[in-house]
Amino acid sequence: MKRVLIAPSLLDAQLAVDALSSLGITTHIFNANAAGALGEVPFMQAQPEVWVDDDAQEARARGALAGLRDAPPRAEKRCAHCGELNPGNFLSCWQCGRALPD
Ligand SMILES: [Zn+2]
Repeated sequence: MKRVLIAPSLLDAQLAVDALSSLGITTHIFNANAAGALGEVPFMQAQPEVWVDDDAQEARARGALAGLRDAPPRAEKRCAHCGELNPGNFLSCWQCGRALPD
């Protein structure tokens, strides 16, 4: 396993995971539970980290994340299930995990 991202928030980590999973790259988030799910993140807690399972995918994952950073933001999407507003490039609701519309 290789760490490809230290995310400033769980939202950013989830964004990266969604982007990588859409490319068929399997990832895990570490420290996900250290950050509050509702954005109440005490500054002393560890930041979420995104790791790719397959070391051979590290370069591809880093390339994809670089592209993600440079991409213009897309309109936010509201979850039909729980009503939560999600960043436009999320594939699933960060709050309830349901699939979001394209
Ligand atoms: Zn939801």
